Amino acid sequence: MGWTSSYIHTMGDWGPASLYFENVRVPAKNILGELNKGFNLGMQWIGAGRWRIPAGAIGTAERALQMAIDYAKQRISMGKPIAEYQAIQWMIADSHVEIEATRWLVLHAAWLAENGKDTRHASSIAKLHGATMANHVIDRVLQIHGGMGYTKELPIERWYRLVRLYRIFEGTDEIQRYIISRNLLKGHVKLGEAL
Ligand SMILES: Cc1cc2nc3c(=O)[nH]c(=O)nc-3n(C[C@H](O)[C@H](O)[C@H](O)COP(=O)(O)OP(=O)(O)OC[C@H]3O[C@@H](n4cnc5c(N)ncnc54)[C@H](O)[C@@H]3O)c2cc1C
Repeated sequence: MGWTSSYIHTMGDWGPASLYFENVRVPAKNILGELNKGFNLGMQWIGAGRWRIPAGAIGTAERALQMAIDYAKQRISMGKPIAEYQAIQWMIADSHVEIEATRWLVLHAAWLAENGKDTRHASSIAKLHGATMANHVIDRVLQIHGGMGYTKELPIERWYRLVRLYRIFEGTDEIQRYIISRNLLKGHVKLGEAL
């Protein structure tokens, strides 16, 4: 009788743990929510995570993009700072556009939650966009840093591995797309309707 756990190593800094419960009795006073309603409780938590994760992705992406901006101004290639090359400028611009788009999607989902409205559709949109954005931005930031970005001298390669998880946990990209398209196909959500 009791419980054990095992840590699973991943490509990122942390990993999920498996928990095993055998003949464990939970005193009534320790039950969270209602008996046999744990799945609903868990889904409420996961639902909120779907707009909190892209909120975190904005912070990670902004920190990384600022590093790329600073590096581009001081790295000289072929006689001038790489910030003066349009190829680099476009990576910076596209990254900022995607970050700002995520910010508004997150704020909208958070506003819905704060006002007691159904956040499921808006949260899936924010999660899908935020996860995609973070992966695009970190990839560009690494590219702007060139070979240095690939080394362990800088934290970028670690962030590159970390943000890959955003596309998987709290509902994969595919599951967010499934939810969004199902809501539209079934008419739960109408195009152009304020969600
Ligand atoms: C580092 C890390 C931390 C984690 N932390 C937690 C945690 O704290 N709590 C927790 O509960 N879980 C956690 N997880 C688990 C995570 O939520 C799951 O890995 C994730 O939901 C995907 O489930 P799965 O791995 O079983 O993939 P699967 O469900 O086996 O999916 C495999 C692939 O098939 C696709 N797929 C599956 N079903 C469909 C479908 N119906 N239509 C289309 N495509 C589909 C998926 O999108 C994916 O691409 C964590 C995982 C990792 C890696």
